[in-house]
Amino acid sequence: MASIFTKIIQGEIPSYKVAEDKNYYAFLDINPNAKGHTLVIPKKEVDKLFDLDTETYAGLMQFSYKVSKALEKTVTCNRVGMSVVGLEVPHAHVHLIPINRVSDINFTSKKLSMQHDDFVKLAKEIASNFEA
Ligand code: 5GP
Repeated sequence: MASIFTKIIQGEIPSYKVAEDKNYYAFLDINPNAKGHTLVIPKKEVDKLFDLDTETYAGLMQFSYKVSKALEKTVTCNRVGMSVVGLEVPHAHVHLIPINRVSDINFTSKKLSMQHDDFVKLAKEIASNFEA
């Protein structure tokens, strides 16, 4: 069965997209740790990040690099942190999170509450700062 992220890529499940190319897709996490929390995924569906073939893995890092630049331009933060978990969704992904303190990247901390309109506006801003 297709993963929830494959359904997002295919448009079966809506998402707040910030960037996309032929092989990768980036969108806002629906339950963000901090403002701008973005998931970057390969379109190829593989469960674990380190089971990706090395070309797809390297491409995911390059695409994440470009997304991080757009996040830095959009969200005021000390830096963009990167994290890999994968315990909830079995489709390889990295979390890019604009952080100011270590609790911003702690997945057991309280989540940020955001409304639909806030997600739409933020995704548009990040997308407009994304340079392919
Ligand atoms: P992990 O698999 O790395 O433990 O966590 C998966 C992440 O995906 C979580 O931060 C969760 O909030 C996010 N997530 C799960 N389902 C959806 C979804 O349908 N849409 C979006 N945008 N994010 C999701």
